[in-house]
Amino acid sequence: MNDMFEAPYVGCYNERHYSNTPIAGLDQMLKQLILFIMLQSWLVGAADQGTEPEPWFRHSLVGMEVGPTGAQFSNSDTNDARYCARFNGQEVVRRCVEANCEYVVIWARDGDYAYYDSKLLLKCAGLGKRDVLQETVAEARKHKLPVIAYCVVQQGGHYLNAHPEFEMRDAKGKRIGRFCYNSGYLEVMKQIVAEQLAYGIDGFHIDMVDQGFGPPYGCWCDSCRKQFEAEFGCPMPKGVTWDSDWDKMLEFRYRTSERFEKALYAYIKSLNPRTSVDFNYHGNPPFSWEVGQRPVQHAGNSDFVTGETGMWGFSAGTVGLNAEFYRAATPNAPFQIAISRDARCYHNQTVRPLADIRWEVFTLLAHGGFVTVVDKTGFDGWLDPVCYERLGAAFKEVHAKRSQFGGQPVQEVGLYFSSRTRDWVGRENAGEYFQSFEGAQKAMLYEHIPWGIVLDESATLETLQRFPVVVLPNVGIVSEKERALLLRYVELGGNLIVTGFGGCYDHQGKLLESTSIEALIGARFKGKLDSMDNWVRFPGAQASSVSRQLAPEHRMDWPFLVKGPAGVFEPTTAKPVGELLKPYRTTRQKEGREGTTWPMSADTPVGPAILLNTIGKGRVLTFTCSPDYATASEHHIVEDRKLLANAVRLLHPSPRIEIVAPVNVEAVVTDDPASRTLRVHLVAYNSPPQTTPAERRPYVLPALLEDTPMYRATIKTAEPIKRATAFNPSTRIAREKRRVQLTVEDIHEVISLHY
Ligand SMILES: [Zn+2]
Repeated sequence: MNDMFEAPYVGCYNERHYSNTPIAGLDQMLKQLILFIMLQSWLVGAADQGTEPEPWFRHSLVGMEVGPTGAQFSNSDTNDARYCARFNGQEVVRRCVEANCEYVVIWARDGDYAYYDSKLLLKCAGLGKRDVLQETVAEARKHKLPVIAYCVVQQGGHYLNAHPEFEMRDAKGKRIGRFCYNSGYLEVMKQIVAEQLAYGIDGFHIDMVDQGFGPPYGCWCDSCRKQFEAEFGCPMPKGVTWDSDWDKMLEFRYRTSERFEKALYAYIKSLNPRTSVDFNYHGNPPFSWEVGQRPVQHAGNSDFVTGETGMWGFSAGTVGLNAEFYRAATPNAPFQIAISRDARCYHNQTVRPLADIRWEVFTLLAHGGFVTVVDKTGFDGWLDPVCYERLGAAFKEVHAKRSQFGGQPVQEVGLYFSSRTRDWVGRENAGEYFQSFEGAQKAMLYEHIPWGIVLDESATLETLQRFPVVVLPNVGIVSEKERALLLRYVELGGNLIVTGFGGCYDHQGKLLESTSIEALIGARFKGKLDSMDNWVRFPGAQASSVSRQLAPEHRMDWPFLVKGPAGVFEPTTAKPVGELLKPYRTTRQKEGREGTTWPMSADTPVGPAILLNTIGKGRVLTFTCSPDYATASEHHIVEDRKLLANAVRLLHPSPRIEIVAPVNVEAVVTDDPASRTLRVHLVAYNSPPQTTPAERRPYVLPALLEDTPMYRATIKTAEPIKRATAFNPSTRIAREKRRVQLTVEDIHEVISLHY
């Protein structure tokens, strides 16, 4: 949970702080000790219950992670006895129990220190003779509270400084302040987890299994070079070359992370198969290839995946997106999301208002995840009582609503994410690709069209067919296998929406002269517009019913900006709808003396805006522009979002459920077939206006949520319903056949529809 704080390399560490204990025989000794303890507890457990207890992560909804503040930037003063002087495991457990936590994640190791008596790592001076891990485990046993050890993998600091032999090298051989996973560091990590396991913990939260979050990239060390040559039969590329050698290098980096994760997981399980292992994951946007993780390849290497979200590094709109990404990456498994109790970011000692905490916690639970709230203590280890009071109140409500969570997601639109496009079209500017994907999600969120995620690595006909509509947001690279799969999906009755440059790039991100999905689109790709300020108009003269249905508010003869990538397509079998217009360019712009960042008004049509193609029982609707990109852009006009929503409704006119609510209310629908109950979670993001910042106008951080809003909503179902109930007594609910009208006065509400 430190991706914002990756410390630069500082090579001035004083080695005298390290113990010189040889670690060779320790591994075996610990292994035997742990096996002995494990056997004892198994024998006792088996006699007591006769059955294996369910692991904690299968039934927990909320817990906390607690760790200190002051060494997160690494290379902290090793003699500062004030740091962590009051960081006390017993106190942490008591507070967590009072706050209705179901488990505690306790900080055991970061880049600088161990917070227990380690033979391998430096212990922070402020603890003196105390051992936080021991204190935590001893107190937690009294409360039957599972203890998870927080253990970092990738963080520079005192240990890395003392061990340059484990350090990543850039292409020129320079040390870059990160651990290399092919360097022998794995053996050290094994020793570290074995030490922690010997305390009798219930699980590991292994953080930062990344390869960095930006340049300089690694690793070109001797071990990596040797292994690369052995695997690929050629030397490593000389740098970031974006050619076939770099393709191998990306593969090598992915394999390296996968091998490391799998080996560490297997080692922990060999010591104690009942200890849970989860890795903190960075395979979702805004993270890209530099981290060394592919969405599916690296999400499933532990018992469950953990990801982060929150305003500190993401957005209010992507809280649910992150959760659905983790769900899609590890189907049918529990998934954990870590969020911060702080108002700005981790480690800043502020507490969010209860309304703000409730909004995020209930958004994540509604999306099917379980939530860990991270408390970073004061410098001396002080625990803020207000933090625990507010979380205690939120968690109490979670327990009262326990039966409302889970169930099968009911999702109408599948948003297709292409990791190959991320890597090879996005390259070192993946944000441009993410903008289309995230814009499509934002449109669905605002329109209350239930959505889920499909990942290219694991897409099958079955995963696609879960969704009546699948959107390909600017998926530039479509392989032959994917093309065949998408074609089959459409032939059998699926509906596909394509935006931007679907299939217009080759395997290594080079723009093609045609699209690989020409037969699906039913049009020829004639070329890319060199403008981003493109326009769409529905001419009144050719206003078919389809054209009127797609036009936002049925408005004809009105050009509106659709900011983003656009291309010229010539229909073959598809029916053209609307017009794509290029922008004017001033004389100075044509001469290259004036930028084009500021949109210029609409000039003349260059081709159709939309192509509608029928194949078998299904249809493909292609936007030659990017309403998804536009929705996430700085020119996020309502009409762009409506284009996408209208396209979904044209292709799929009778959904199972339709929800009308204010745009700041997120709707998540689940189904419990056993009790024949549809649940509609409504979560209001009620952020008040913000004022002008001192710097970087107009970019503002959203204000914290304080109030509970009051709003109206309507739910319509395709199937008859017998009864509709609201969880909150304050909600006014009225039903007329398949239509339910509501007035809600809260951040979170759940409506149960019994069918
Ligand atoms: Zn290396």
